[in-house]
Amino acid sequence: QGDGEYEDGLAVAYRAGAEVLDKGGTALDAVCAAVVSLEDNPLFNSARGSALRADGSIQTDAAVMSGDGRAGAVAAVECARNPVTVARRVMEDGTAVLRTQIGAPTLKSWGLTVVDQEYLRTPGRVAQLENVQAGRIPAQTHGTVGAVALDLRGRLAAATSTGGMVNQSVGRIGDSPLIGAGTYARDGVVAVSCTGSGEAFIQGVVAHEIASRVRHGGADLAEAVRDVLDDEVGRRGVTGGIIAVGGNGRVVVAHNSPAMFAAFDHGGRVTVWS
Ligand code: ASP
Repeated sequence: QGDGEYEDGLAVAYRAGAEVLDKGGTALDAVCAAVVSLEDNPLFNSARGSALRADGSIQTDAAVMSGDGRAGAVAAVECARNPVTVARRVMEDGTAVLRTQIGAPTLKSWGLTVVDQEYLRTPGRVAQLENVQAGRIPAQTHGTVGAVALDLRGRLAAATSTGGMVNQSVGRIGDSPLIGAGTYARDGVVAVSCTGSGEAFIQGVVAHEIASRVRHGGADLAEAVRDVLDDEVGRRGVTGGIIAVGGNGRVVVAHNSPAMFAAFDHGGRVTVWS
């Protein structure tokens, strides 16, 4: 695929989120709409198009957090079309923040769409796993999707969804569904969503560390994102990328991976950055 298809996918997802905000909707609804769009797009490593585990199966992880402190997340979901909607449902339910072992009966009882592994698995991902297992390409390719938003009432939200790392062991959970690691939002401070080698983001509690540096250390958001990427990810010898929006609407995108796609509003135009 050429970069153009990724850019188109990003722009469509951005507009799905922006439409919610333009109508006065919440940041939470906006990030979910954007992530659903990316999940449905097979080019990205989430839901349909997820990276395959070592045994060829797909397990997806997702999280949402609203800046008021509410959060929901799911890990190792095998049959949801849109894992971010499952995370949202866990959040709304309010009895748990992170859930696993969510199967078709639960999804159906929540009115969420159930799909099979064949829907989630794409030929490109099958070939990728074969190439990784044969040692022809490295496993360190990312592609997790995420969105961050600030709405008209000043509320922040973040959402992240992933198939995890290519060739990972069954049951391995990355940073994406862990609140504070791959996903975090706090009103008035920042909303953050991460992609990259999940273990470093967990060990460095990256998303929360960025919020802490801004909130307690008075750091500039761009500086906090860059420094935490260097200190907690680069220092561990791995790569990743971060998107963030501050309580004042400042958007920051940073990565130390070879490439990263992001779409954001730039003077009223959707800009896709790579
Ligand atoms: N961060 C994800 C994980 O570790 C993978 C990725 O971003 O590609 O599960």
